[in-house]
Amino acid sequence: MSNDNLNKFLKAEGFLPGQQKPKQQPQPAPAKKTFQSKPKQQHTQGPKPVAQKAHVSNPNAPKPKNKFFQRKKNVTPQGGHTQKQRPNTKGQGPNKPRPARYGQHKPAVQQLKKVQYPVSKVPADDIRIIPLGGLEQVGQNMMVIEWGNDIIIIDTGIEFPSPEHLGVDVIVPDISYLKKNKKKIRGIVYTHGHLDHIGGAQYLVPDLGYPPMYATKLTKELLFANADNAEIPKKYRISEINEKSHVRLGKFEIEFFHVNHSIPDNVGIVVKTPHGSIVHSSDFKIDPTPSDEKPADLDRIARIGDKGVAVAMVDSTNALQPGHTVSESVIEKELGKTIQAIPGRIVIATFASNIGRVAKIVQAAEKDGRTVFLSGRSMERNIAIARKLKYLKCKDGTLKRMSKLAEELPASKVLILSTGTQGEELAALTRMAAKTHKAIRLTPADTVIFSSSAIPGNEMAIVSVLNNLADLGVTMLDNKQLDSHVSGHGYAEECKKFTSLLRPKYFAPIHGELFMRYGHRDMIVRDLNMHKKNTFVMKNGRGLVLNKDGARLMTDQESIPSRPVLIELGEEIGETIMTDRTRMADSGTIFVSINQFKGKVKSVEVRARGFRYMNMELEIFKILKREMKACFEKNYGPKKSKKDLEEMLSKSGTRIFYQKFKKEPLVEVII
Ligand SMILES: [Zn+2]
Ligand SMILES: [Zn+2]
Repeated sequence: MSNDNLNKFLKAEGFLPGQQKPKQQPQPAPAKKTFQSKPKQQHTQGPKPVAQKAHVSNPNAPKPKNKFFQRKKNVTPQGGHTQKQRPNTKGQGPNKPRPARYGQHKPAVQQLKKVQYPVSKVPADDIRIIPLGGLEQVGQNMMVIEWGNDIIIIDTGIEFPSPEHLGVDVIVPDISYLKKNKKKIRGIVYTHGHLDHIGGAQYLVPDLGYPPMYATKLTKELLFANADNAEIPKKYRISEINEKSHVRLGKFEIEFFHVNHSIPDNVGIVVKTPHGSIVHSSDFKIDPTPSDEKPADLDRIARIGDKGVAVAMVDSTNALQPGHTVSESVIEKELGKTIQAIPGRIVIATFASNIGRVAKIVQAAEKDGRTVFLSGRSMERNIAIARKLKYLKCKDGTLKRMSKLAEELPASKVLILSTGTQGEELAALTRMAAKTHKAIRLTPADTVIFSSSAIPGNEMAIVSVLNNLADLGVTMLDNKQLDSHVSGHGYAEECKKFTSLLRPKYFAPIHGELFMRYGHRDMIVRDLNMHKKNTFVMKNGRGLVLNKDGARLMTDQESIPSRPVLIELGEEIGETIMTDRTRMADSGTIFVSINQFKGKVKSVEVRARGFRYMNMELEIFKILKREMKACFEKNYGPKKSKKDLEEMLSKSGTRIFYQKFKKEPLVEVII
């Protein structure tokens, strides 16, 4: 809108001098994506939006105020969701319309009648299985099992934020229930070393009072390596376990079993109870010929089934994919052949946590007489851990940190192992593609192999890297040309096999999006002849109760409050901050400075940053100044605090902008 048009518009709306200001009260904003109203919203700026009553069964329900506290994360059907996903945000302005899926689906927990901690009401014999995270998003995996005075926790995962989380570092589950019941916590048991299962330890374990932790060798190593603050792991009390270990934690007796995944040392968990075992599958697939470890222990799983399983909680991530996953050994062979067949320099981009595959690539490169240059911090770190734990055996000279030597050696002698499969802004491959990598310039003689798959949500960032690579003329190979990647999550037949070996009384699909879990449940009901009434689709905070009468879903009243906790710079970030950031990103900020003496306004200064109109001579800003002056003088009083006045003015300022533009810039008033 040009300035002339804007003035015309303002005139038509009755905002030009001499015209009467419309008496009509501002229309409340529709429940906009930036606002989820709540009766006691602390953040008072801006017009009060209308509550989305249609979606909310109870007005007292603990609703999230901000979309960040209710949005769902993307689907990850191909696994590998544990990598840092910080996609390149180029060309994805904050005003870009957001996909409709965000904020559409309200988890049941957010419709609770009241928030409560029903500790005392739980009958002593009831065993409760409560997912605190991981069921409404990919990431934040955390499961609580509670029995009388004992609580055990399975995994403490994080979720990676999306660009629209505007600066948030990581997201972890809400552990307020556990903090209130700290004395009951007997220990944390880990399934495997992916960050969506261990990454939250540094944020959550201190708050839980450093309970004993149990992890396999590699998982333990990664728990130590992952903390940003080196002081925290020093206090960890981690006992190393393996698939043969027995651990007693309070009344719980815990055993483990080996299953395959895209990281070694992965274990499923068996928790014994008088009503039968509770089995947690971990993230799993069944690979009869894995390249880096033993096949999943089907005999053992069958024996666990023989002893009686009450509840089987099974990974649903790929349950809707028909058939079986390709074996990791096929991938290994294919990559080995490809490395030998390519005469020039090779860059392989893969997930650094897929230690088994990384090790096989290094060994294949060594066999082909190549030096392997490691590019990316997580790649270097994980390779070091893999060598320490003997998952990778190679000559010292084979591995080099990325350097100019990768340009100097003959091309046929170089393989670069790189992070950046998801187009992460700072990752090595992204920089190579953008010609900003310090050590290397790619040429048309180079080949880039993607030993990975796109994690939904990262496609645009990946496309930007692919475009850059194509522009450089490099040859690109991925899963379409060769078997360069397989997911770490089993397909339909593997899911069915797992559950049929366990023969559980009750089945509860876990991991994956809600529709996948329902689909997984339907498949088990259909193909394994299970009664639907014996299957339960849990949600965060709303798990199962198991007792002598059987199992049932927790009721609304029994549910535990659960919400994503956003972490920035190591600490939780409040909803007000996120609401402010969203408004600034969507509409900009208007600064109003009021210079007054004893309630008489001497001058009003206005500045705008990031707002559509920046010219302070525009009528809208004159109106704003007038309104600010009038509002201040009307409401000034010795008893009114400066803060209250500022808040009132800011609200009134926002109203003007909303009324005119249906935009809500942050109006910051300083008196
Ligand atoms: Zn995993
Ligand atoms: Zn996972």
